[in-house]
Amino acid sequence: MGFVLRTALAGFAMLAGACGGAGRSNPVLIVGIDGLEPAVVARLLAEGRLPTLASFARAGVVGRIESMVPTYSPVIWTTIATGQLAEAHGIDFFHDGQGKPFTSNAREVPALWNLVSDAGRTVNCVGWWNTWPAETVNGRMLSSYAAQAQAEIIWKPGVWENLEDQVWPPDLLEEIEPAMVFSSDVEEVRDRLYRAFPRPGSLDPITEKSVTDLGWTYAADLTAANVTVLLQREHPADLTLAYLALPDVAGHRFWSYHEPDAYGYEVPEPARSDFATYVEAAHIEADRLLGQILAAAPDDANVLVLSDHGMHADDLDDPTTGQSGHHRDGPPGLFAARGPQVRSLGSLLGDPASGTLGHVLEVAPLALRLLGVEVPEHWLSLRAQSELASVLDEAWSAANPVVTGPNPDPSFRPATPSRLPAADLDKKFNEAFSKLGYAVGE
Ligand SMILES: [Zn+2]
Repeated sequence: MGFVLRTALAGFAMLAGACGGAGRSNPVLIVGIDGLEPAVVARLLAEGRLPTLASFARAGVVGRIESMVPTYSPVIWTTIATGQLAEAHGIDFFHDGQGKPFTSNAREVPALWNLVSDAGRTVNCVGWWNTWPAETVNGRMLSSYAAQAQAEIIWKPGVWENLEDQVWPPDLLEEIEPAMVFSSDVEEVRDRLYRAFPRPGSLDPITEKSVTDLGWTYAADLTAANVTVLLQREHPADLTLAYLALPDVAGHRFWSYHEPDAYGYEVPEPARSDFATYVEAAHIEADRLLGQILAAAPDDANVLVLSDHGMHADDLDDPTTGQSGHHRDGPPGLFAARGPQVRSLGSLLGDPASGTLGHVLEVAPLALRLLGVEVPEHWLSLRAQSELASVLDEAWSAANPVVTGPNPDPSFRPATPSRLPAADLDKKFNEAFSKLGYAVGE
């Protein structure tokens, strides 16, 4: 065999290895679960109460992932999806500088769903932060409108009734509508909520608001889980992303009942008993929804599950805010993975001193690498040695190094001012935030 042919064959083998053969990599499923706290997960896993995450501990890995300060969920979820920091992706916490909640058109760089689409691969994206209006993707998207604008309800993304441009392609709505649960079905949502959370004996104004917020989030999560199941069954894609929020909302609202001794004030009865298990129940219910999503995923999928931060007792010691859990200091989130290209490392949650598996910036490049899609060469995570890649099978990893491509940001569609779904929502948003004690400056 001559040198040239050998070299050509070696080159072909490398190419085939690097790409897994174009379009033939294993599918990737990313499930984001806002505020899932590693310490709560560790205890519930030890008690055998999280069967889905236990399957990751058996066949893959469960550990921690480093978050960021300031710890703003919409910013971090956009970082997870874009592989870039807020200075680059342009999505911040409060508003876009014109008093409007951020929307997808204000994002300045491509996200995973754009990059994967541009590579000719398919994508499903359900309920991810700051995805409304739905973008044109090579696949399907149920976008989530930043509930910043409905802050009088709760500040979480969710699916709205009668909101235009919420899905891509437009005719997807008809197909998924039967799987959607709307928070306006108050009775139905409360009913379902009390199947997953103990029904309290009574409600005071603070717990009434907290339960209403939890119900709103639960409706959004049930919708996200149902639609993700439906899309995976009917329209399987190379990459599927889904977002759930229950543990975050339960943590913010119910932490004082979960850990009453951590506060400088007396947590009152009967709420203290009635809501004692709500934080745990939120983790257990998120695990159950994750199980439903996984049951509909392809058997050969590589699955990544993560939270954007953990949660712990608030040090403000003010019982009147209805907020008792916080994450202002960026406590590590949970990271779990399993699949054909993931090592069996077990649960690493037992020893917090062992540190984290990696950083939220490393999730997007890990997903692209698993898909055999080029990673933009300017991404920050490439400049430091990627720790998160240590979860990958060593032989696969050696045969499939990161393949970089040119910076796609300059050719991405230009960012435009955030869109309002209805007039005056920016005023409502700012008023609601002022009431919550946030300084909403212009
Ligand atoms: Zn969050």
